[in-house]
Amino acid sequence: MQAKFDLIVVGSGILGTFHAYHALLRGLKVLLLEKDNYPVGATVRNFGQAVPSGMVDQWFWYGVKGLEVYQALQKEFDISVRNNGSVYIASDKDEQQLIHELKTHYDTVGYACDLLSSDQVLKKYPAIRSSYVQEALFFPQEVSLEPDKMIHRVHAYMQSRFENLTLNYNAPVIGAEQLNEGVCVRRSNGTSYLGAKLVICNGNEFKLLFPDIFSASGQMVSKLQMLRTVPMPKVELEGNILTGLTIRRYESFEMYCPSFNQIGTPEHYLELKKWGIHILFKKATDGSFIIGDSHEYADSNQVDDLGFQISSYINRLMLNEAQRIVNFDVQQIAGSWAGYYPQHPEKNIVEVNVTDDIHIRTCIGGKGMTAGIGYTEASIQQLFDH
Ligand SMILES: Cc1cc2nc3c(=O)[nH]c(=O)nc-3n(C[C@H](O)[C@H](O)[C@H](O)COP(=O)(O)OP(=O)(O)OC[C@H]3O[C@@H](n4cnc5c(N)ncnc54)[C@H](O)[C@@H]3O)c2cc1C
Repeated sequence: MQAKFDLIVVGSGILGTFHAYHALLRGLKVLLLEKDNYPVGATVRNFGQAVPSGMVDQWFWYGVKGLEVYQALQKEFDISVRNNGSVYIASDKDEQQLIHELKTHYDTVGYACDLLSSDQVLKKYPAIRSSYVQEALFFPQEVSLEPDKMIHRVHAYMQSRFENLTLNYNAPVIGAEQLNEGVCVRRSNGTSYLGAKLVICNGNEFKLLFPDIFSASGQMVSKLQMLRTVPMPKVELEGNILTGLTIRRYESFEMYCPSFNQIGTPEHYLELKKWGIHILFKKATDGSFIIGDSHEYADSNQVDDLGFQISSYINRLMLNEAQRIVNFDVQQIAGSWAGYYPQHPEKNIVEVNVTDDIHIRTCIGGKGMTAGIGYTEASIQQLFDH
């Protein structure tokens, strides 16, 4: 048995990393264990859009907290965060109606946003086609980050700042047992550690720890297809770009817009909706564009049914719709990948207290890069203050 920690965290995606971060801020001694060479899960495969405007209830406020922490960290260490805002571009009368209704909601809440006329959109975002845009809703305070860089830089920052952190990669955890004196955690190489508490932030890995709990939990796993163009530094389209199908999909529109359930679906959108497609753009620092995404679902007990292949058909559907929105050549693709995240049909997150000191915190769905930081702060408060 090796050294004793106040907190052991399994998984170094955004949820594991920021559980560790908030515990370290309290002066706790933390061990963070990652099974892979470095994190390669959902936390590095996403758009890198931090968009509280798309979220509801407490998850919106967790997102607002996330914006604050991202910007504070960026001031101390370059973790790749940029503040270029988010824009929802409406392409027809129904989508216009919804952005007006969302603006009314956020005016009441006091969360800054501005309606942009089509002329204003074209001036601010010259890469958008005039034939697409009717009007837009802009959130100036929202940020983006580089998903392939951010978590690695946060790890580097945490290692330089906190003496109380031990971070081990290549460390699959295959056992956890409650003892009288705390929790014993066992790695696949036989090394064991003792922690006062254990938090398991395992993303969509359900086979190594407490498989019976996950098997019965009702979770689903979603597979998303993503594309990246070659660098196009001259194309002017900065920030988080969200479009008509996103307005018809995100929870904030569904919950806060009275017209949401009255609007019909144009014929053109039917095949796209069948594959869970909505079109987002995020320009990376090298000038390439991340374009996506689609959603296919499987029960978490049958996750391999989602397959490992990229469907060219789905990519074509996404790129054809993307080309309807922007005036640069979206067919110049450098790569495509699939990301997977777990989600629960009824819950915003899966929290299981296996014993007094063993806690599962996973399944944050498609909102982790936005709401993960705020949520983990609240989770650490709940674990250590109650
Ligand atoms: C394509 C795509 C686009 C997205 N876009 C956005 C976006 O723009 N904005 C947004 O807010 N959210 C977005 N999301 C959602 C967001 O990426 C996820 O909610 C978030 O990354 C989940 O983080 P996590 O820490 O729970 O999981 P992961 O990132 O999957 O991390 C889990 C980690 O745990 C490790 N692990 C698991 N089991 C063990 C074990 N037994 N021992 C040791 N290590 C273990 C894994 O190796 C992994 O590194 C997107 C997701 C995808 C897939």
